[in-house]
Amino acid sequence: PELTRRIAAGEVITRPLDAVRELIENALDATATRIEIELGGGGLDFLEVRDNGVGIPEAEVALAPLRHTTSKLAGESLADIATLGFRGEALWSIAWAGELSLLTRPPGQLGATLLRARGDRITTERARGPQGTRARVTGLFAELPARLRTQASPAAEYREVLALVGRYVLHRPELHWRVVLDGETRLSHAPGDVRAAVASVYGALPANRLLTVDAAGVHGAVSRPELTRPRRDRMHLAVNGRPVEFPAELERAVLRAYGELLPQGQAPLAVLSLEVPPAWIDPNVHPHKARVALARLDELAARLEAAVRAALAAHPL
Ligand code: ADP
Ligand code: MG
Repeated sequence: PELTRRIAAGEVITRPLDAVRELIENALDATATRIEIELGGGGLDFLEVRDNGVGIPEAEVALAPLRHTTSKLAGESLADIATLGFRGEALWSIAWAGELSLLTRPPGQLGATLLRARGDRITTERARGPQGTRARVTGLFAELPARLRTQASPAAEYREVLALVGRYVLHRPELHWRVVLDGETRLSHAPGDVRAAVASVYGALPANRLLTVDAAGVHGAVSRPELTRPRRDRMHLAVNGRPVEFPAELERAVLRAYGELLPQGQAPLAVLSLEVPPAWIDPNVHPHKARVALARLDELAARLEAAVRAALAAHPL
């Protein structure tokens, strides 16, 4: 049974990046306004996500790393889930893939709690700590040598971590973000709008190069057609606040809005955020929840196209 648990956990957490994503989602669900991510040794030595969110009350901390325990489904049906997490699987998986520690304190509580979890061995003690939660993972895959051998290089893992956090920064620019890799600050963002986020992630652009999109329930920014890229690696979509893979059909809708303005094979910079009724989105199709199933793709494509067209029309060349 211990082996089967390790295998099940290994499906959710296949690399340090997966743990980072889950811990960031927990920080966002905890309504943090400041999120800091730090890794050492490619994340295999340690990885840590610190937030200033609601914390976990002392009486509930020991439940957090148990399988299928979640505080996020109170009376809700799967159709109305508004939080990023809902399966109660992430901390459990992390504790089976490595060693998890949580230092956590809700705002009203006097002291913090320090939890350590490794598989089903869980200890808690009182500790001192700031408001919020510091989740730290060490020795990831130390007991899964085959998994350890197939890990990417630290440099490759860091590239993915920066790209992942970049996507969150673009979609949640009202928060403080910081990424520290092997002791070096590699990304930092102070609260601002989507333009500020683009500058934090891609470097400053001439101010008039980004057009605000705000129509048909679509928000964000797109670049003017002359500021395009040969590859589609700068198109970002969030659905109900969750960064997701841009479905090809929706990506084509954005490109269609540019029509002739866009040179063949080029793509704009686009950070778009779509609000849909929770029942239209099924994030449950993929363990990482990055690929979501969306209902009414045609309608969503039409909305995206209309919103981008409106932004382009409002700012003729
Ligand atoms: P899920 O996010 O699906 O509920 P997790 O295993 O990721 O499952 O987390 C389990 C529970 O631990 C969460 O439901 C939440 O109550 C608590 N928790 C985890 N991380 C944090 C955090 N950073 N701040 C506050 N509570 C947290
Ligand atoms: Mg979670």
